[in-house]
Amino acid sequence: MELYSGHINKLIEELAALPGIGDKSAQRLAFHLINMPADKVNRLANTIIEAKANVRYCRECFTLTDKDICPICANGKRNHKVIMVVENVRDLAAYEKTGKYDGVYHVLHGAISPMLGIGPGEIKLKELIARLEHDVEEVIVATNSSIEGETTAMYISKLVKPTGIRVTRIASGVPVGGDLEYIDEVTLSRALDARWDM
Ligand code: ZN
Repeated sequence: MELYSGHINKLIEELAALPGIGDKSAQRLAFHLINMPADKVNRLANTIIEAKANVRYCRECFTLTDKDICPICANGKRNHKVIMVVENVRDLAAYEKTGKYDGVYHVLHGAISPMLGIGPGEIKLKELIARLEHDVEEVIVATNSSIEGETTAMYISKLVKPTGIRVTRIASGVPVGGDLEYIDEVTLSRALDARWDM
């Protein structure tokens, strides 16, 4: 028995496939969208399509940007000799919010996870190593303190050390298993100040 029309069902299905949206929220959003004025729905749909078409990875650090090079990498006032490695764009945003970091970033887009079958080749590690051929003095590993984050940190340390470049790890003021994006700015800048040599 079909409770709603095919179009409504399809909309609910698509919304429920998004992260953090359960069936109930998907239904609520679907009905909300149907009740919205047509021009607002068009604007929302176009915003999604345009974002998808125009947003890409920065050629240097792999964060999301509208341009070839993101504003952080393009900024001549930032210290391009210090690279902070983060798991995702949300973590980068968290460190930027502290306003205490003036180096550049490298976004891995994930972490090594044997459990989930994510190997070093699936994240932007090759790209990190390629960047080390330029003038780099320090690589700060700011992956999460989960098992995956720690595994990734060890892996990076082993890759970077032979190059003679300093490798540091953010201090464990960051709670174990904690997602960087939920940690307040003070804790983050403390973790950065107290980083240790790997
Ligand atoms: Zn960039």
